[in-house]
Amino acid sequence: MNHHYGYVSERLITEGLFPQRRARRRERGPGGAAPVPTVDGLDVEAIRTHFDFPATGRVVTNNAATTQTPVELVDLYRRLAPWYEGVHRGQSTASQRMTERFEESYDTIATWINAPSRRTIATYRATTEAINAVMYSLLTEFRDGDNVVTTLMEHNSNFVPWYALAREVLPKFGRSVECRVARFDHDTGELDLDHLAGLVDSRTKLVCVSGASNFLGTKPPLDRIRAIADAAGYLQPSGQRGSLLLVDAAQLAPTTLIDVQELGVDYLAFSFHKMLAPFGVGVLYAREPLLERSLPFLYGGDMVADGQVRPDRVEYGGLPWKFAAGTPNVLGVVASAQALRLLADLVLDDGSPRFEGCSPLPREDVVRTMSRVNSHVASLTDRALAGTDGIPGLRSYGPPTGAARSPLLAFTVRGTDPRALATALDREGVEARAGCHCASLAHWDLGLDPGTCRLSFAAYTNERDVDRAVDALAAVVRRG
Ligand code: PMP
Repeated sequence: MNHHYGYVSERLITEGLFPQRRARRRERGPGGAAPVPTVDGLDVEAIRTHFDFPATGRVVTNNAATTQTPVELVDLYRRLAPWYEGVHRGQSTASQRMTERFEESYDTIATWINAPSRRTIATYRATTEAINAVMYSLLTEFRDGDNVVTTLMEHNSNFVPWYALAREVLPKFGRSVECRVARFDHDTGELDLDHLAGLVDSRTKLVCVSGASNFLGTKPPLDRIRAIADAAGYLQPSGQRGSLLLVDAAQLAPTTLIDVQELGVDYLAFSFHKMLAPFGVGVLYAREPLLERSLPFLYGGDMVADGQVRPDRVEYGGLPWKFAAGTPNVLGVVASAQALRLLADLVLDDGSPRFEGCSPLPREDVVRTMSRVNSHVASLTDRALAGTDGIPGLRSYGPPTGAARSPLLAFTVRGTDPRALATALDREGVEARAGCHCASLAHWDLGLDPGTCRLSFAAYTNERDVDRAVDALAAVVRRG
């Protein structure tokens, strides 16, 4: 028996978690509903048996906001609770075991995005806090006359911090920094790369883009944006030339394989509550040299080197703990990392358990998992786009059917308030979301007040959900 994970998982393994999981599948079945065909090798009905929400009859089509939680994860949280202890520096066995599990979680997260090691991973409350962490860490590096380039399709989390930095924070220190925003094509929803390239110059410290828009669904070509940032010629304090690139992956990570090394991003942020684990954890990946040389975002306990605090000298801990001030969200981080392993189990369904497993998560499993998830949600999105195509007065936004896009569909119906539409859909049992989805700039740019209505899908969404949503929408529009 490998003791690395401590008593809790040893016991789970001894008792055999997987027989339990399979029993649950047999017990619950697809609830007597008509069989739904398997899409691209993904057994969606089997996946749904690991969640409680299908039994409620909900048509959960607001997954871009937040996702549902598998029962195993809730159980895990409960099973970890009797062994809960703070991490690092504790003498108790419980603390040491928790520390091991906590630190191992960073390895799983690193593997998931192909980061070189746990040293490049910081955990925060969510994407918003992770992006703010970058902003505060770089605060002192901005020079008078610098600029930040972002886009009109950003979530407010990846615009407002840069706006505030340029308009409110740095002017107080006598530094003038500009926040520039790149346009997108109103018809196709594609980012205007020429405009972006025109905004990036030798004073652009940082380019901040969304990996996938939560409104348009657009997935900007990150390789081309990387090239634009590289060509900028900005002189970074490290002596390197080129703009830094931050990717908001809140909508990318849940359904697309991410390889931070291949993408060559400097920073990447995402939230676990959109990835089956609503325990208050978000991730910031940053290239190691950046974390080594930049100032921490938060200061205090745990982020300092052991015993290295004097009135006139403080030394920070090694990576990644330099970026983990204060008592962390231990159980949240552990359960969130396990959500990744569980997703691989549910999607690959190959009888080789990774959830609560003793060995490192193979990157190859992540690749196969995300490939299946991605093609599943892509086919659902195409189905929704095709289904809504003929609805009178409906206009959908973003790239057309077949284009790479995140699994969501935002639309308006002529003469109808999107909020009334979402309420009417809810009466039909379909959960949509209306408003500007925090993509305020894009809605403003398109003149969409009071917003759009949005349907969004996840790995556990089946074709029946999509058809019910589309049929309900058609019926609501027909009734007027
Ligand atoms: N960016 C994008 C693209 C998002 O969709 C969201 C969540 N709607 C966020 C950032 C913010 O995420 P969080 O609320 O988890 O901080």
